[in-house]
Amino acid sequence: MDFDIIIVGAGMAGLTAGRILANSGQRIAIIEARHRVGGRIFTTHASDGAGRPDMPVELGAEFVHGLPPETWSLLREAELATYEIDGVELCTSGGPLQVHQHSGAGISVLEHMLAFEATLPPDGDLTFAQYLGRVAIDQAARTRAVEYVEGFNAADSAVIGVKALAMQQRAEDQIDSDRLFHVRQGYDALPRFLARQVEAAGGTILLGSMAQRIGWRRGAVTVSGAHERGDAFALAAKQALVCVPLGVLQAQAIEFAPAPGRILAQARRLVMGTVMRMTLVFRARFWAGADLPNVPAGVQAGLDRLSFLFTHGALPPTWWTPMPDTAAMITAWVAGPKVALIESAPATPAKPDALLQRCLGTLANAFGLSTTSLEQLLLSWHCHDWQADLLARGAYSYVPAGAIDASAQLTEPVEDTLYFAGEHTDTTGHWGTVHAAVRSGLRVAAQLQGGTR
Ligand SMILES: Cc1cc2nc3c(=O)[nH]c(=O)nc-3n(C[C@H](O)[C@H](O)[C@H](O)COP(=O)(O)OP(=O)(O)OC[C@H]3O[C@@H](n4cnc5c(N)ncnc54)[C@H](O)[C@@H]3O)c2cc1C
Repeated sequence: MDFDIIIVGAGMAGLTAGRILANSGQRIAIIEARHRVGGRIFTTHASDGAGRPDMPVELGAEFVHGLPPETWSLLREAELATYEIDGVELCTSGGPLQVHQHSGAGISVLEHMLAFEATLPPDGDLTFAQYLGRVAIDQAARTRAVEYVEGFNAADSAVIGVKALAMQQRAEDQIDSDRLFHVRQGYDALPRFLARQVEAAGGTILLGSMAQRIGWRRGAVTVSGAHERGDAFALAAKQALVCVPLGVLQAQAIEFAPAPGRILAQARRLVMGTVMRMTLVFRARFWAGADLPNVPAGVQAGLDRLSFLFTHGALPPTWWTPMPDTAAMITAWVAGPKVALIESAPATPAKPDALLQRCLGTLANAFGLSTTSLEQLLLSWHCHDWQADLLARGAYSYVPAGAIDASAQLTEPVEDTLYFAGEHTDTTGHWGTVHAAVRSGLRVAAQLQGGTR
């Protein structure tokens, strides 16, 4: 045996588990296909053109949602500074900008849904769209609720289940998840901290190494694949911990021999959601302090503290700045079925340009400016295509109606030899988040050590 446990995937799940296992004296190797750790935490750095050369720009996970104890204990341990997002929320439905009044509309529909869900039998479930079809709410509240659910969960409201949404809502209430925080130096400082700890504890991390096949029998696995240089590797261990994203598992991009049929069947019951996000970095905050044509006097004062902007009916529909950080950047967000509308272009080099033009057009309309004037102010723009990324195959998971038990089934080891973790295996209602990935790493480490977490 080369190792006791081989971990496939150096995202937060694999690194969290790897650190615990290495610290407990296990000989572990983490095999990672990318050249970096962190997976769907992916930070780049940009210049603001005026003396701040390394502003962090997130291409994947950006916010610490609320106060999940696992994430905050890691942030403290890594001594990473954070700040809370705070500012004025504005919106437009094509006309002048207004102070955003609908923040709570989507959420209050979800609160009614909680009472409804409590009346469902244990094996009863329905999609969020079916639920909305049964209740008497006005069209505006319905639209906002769909926008909220699809935007947050990267999900199709005609697929995502009420049971999962209710579980998620209750879980979020417990951690104040409407509060949002940034890691000041960039989110990737967290996985990089964990990677250093794994190596300090004697663990091995092999970057640029793609796992292609996991051959196994009870108590023995061989993980084989190719390093980026093209040369093959084959490593033997007693157990394997598979921490690749749901989309990778579903696509069977890694061949298992023999196939763990029960696990693959459960993975197919979940769905990988879609997200397009693009961050635009400008020379200056053109929205702040200026006399903009589309901005009524009452709203003007709030512009200096703009945080979220909702452009209803336009694409992209959601935007945010890093307020109270006054960096001149604004991020566009589209999630769920709307991604298909904006990403209709094939994955060619022209695709990001088409997205950029779309973003600039919507932003220019919102502020009553010309696209050309924004183009002249634009310093850089940053985007990663998570749908086309073969090591992610989507943004993050969600749970369709009728599949509430699938994640728990994914936590059941196969013959005490194959173990699975990752945000999609979270059983606490936090799917699709960094803290879900961390929790799954803690859970699987305890399982591998014979605990019962
Ligand atoms: C655009 C976007 C925005 C998000 N925003 C937030 C947010 O604001 N807050 C939040 O909490 N969460 C957010 N998330 C979700 C969060 O990023 C994920 O839930 C979390 O990072 C997943 O961690 P993981 O360890 O489960 O998977 P990953 O981070 O995906 O790690 C899996 C690893 O497996 C590797 N891998 C895949 N195939 C192979 C192979 N064959 N061989 C070797 N390695 C392989 C991958 O390269 C990857 O490094 C966002 C995600 C996206 C995409």
